[in-house]
Amino acid sequence: MLTGMHVAIIGGDARQLEVIRKLTELDAKLSLIGFDQLDHGFTGAAKVQIDEVDFSELDAIILPVPGTNLEGQVDTVFSNEKVFLTEEMLLKTPKHCTIYSGISNSYLEKLMKAANRKHVQLFERDDVAIYNSIPTVEGTLMIVIQHTDFTIHGSRVAVLGLGRVGMSVARAFAALGANVKVGARRSEHIARITEMGLYPFHLNDLEKEAADIDICINTIPHMVVTASVISKMPAHTLIVDLASKPGGTDFRYAEKRGVKALLAPGLPGIVAPKTAGQIVANVLAQLLSADLKKRKET
Ligand code: NAP
Repeated sequence: MLTGMHVAIIGGDARQLEVIRKLTELDAKLSLIGFDQLDHGFTGAAKVQIDEVDFSELDAIILPVPGTNLEGQVDTVFSNEKVFLTEEMLLKTPKHCTIYSGISNSYLEKLMKAANRKHVQLFERDDVAIYNSIPTVEGTLMIVIQHTDFTIHGSRVAVLGLGRVGMSVARAFAALGANVKVGARRSEHIARITEMGLYPFHLNDLEKEAADIDICINTIPHMVVTASVISKMPAHTLIVDLASKPGGTDFRYAEKRGVKALLAPGLPGIVAPKTAGQIVANVLAQLLSADLKKRKET
């Protein structure tokens, strides 16, 4: 239980509703900022404006998955209010106050350093990234189905990267009957791809391997699908880039060559906001309980 814990939830989309639901169930006291247009009421959660929050009382601040933008603004889907997180606010919080978001950026890094507060990036955790790869795969399948006129079954698919997302994507496409090859740079990844019964190749050979594919799914957040790689692909190849913005594809060249290339960020929040929210909510509940326990012990 989180009885006695005061948590501010600042902004976010439908995923945050699962976090609110979970934390109210656990009896945390919640201040909701950026939710004034949300019809649903949660017992134990008060909708407030950011200037009404007493930051000195907060044990934790929960930001949306992207955190803030580079100017410190927090995205608020359920409000027209413009909400910013500032150093002044963080400096008012108790020293133990922890800030949670999915990912970070240069603004948040600078802010946390200046205010000397602990910042937890939930999406850096292996468990969150692996759970999150499940709705990511489903979203990828949706995009591929929408943008092709052939079945996944029997198609030739190249997956780039064998990280948390790449492994789930490769496995799902293979299970649907696609001929999947996976490009990686580490020998242990090449070994794992072989063990999975898929065709491995080194990323150095990507140009050669791109010559006979129908679908290319990139998960590497670096420029790998270069103009010279795209120039070798058949014209009908569909490129789906899952890597975080700006992706790893030369979109300008793809357009020039007439190869369809799509950057597809944030799929879990689009195709399964409830599940994606529950993934974040469950891990937050564990982390906040551990924080509370630690504080009670000291
Ligand atoms: P990950 O586990 O870190 O995997 C990244 C993969 O990229 C690893 O195989 C890594 O190989 C490879 N890689 C990184 N830099 C490389 C480089 N310079 N050259 C060659 N290979 C490189 O990450 P993940 O959790 O799978 O996520 C992958 C990407 O998808 C991230 O950008 C993440 O933000 C994004 N994502 C998108 C969605 C969506 O909805 N579109 C959902 C979840 C995640 P090494 O081990 O050799 O470095």
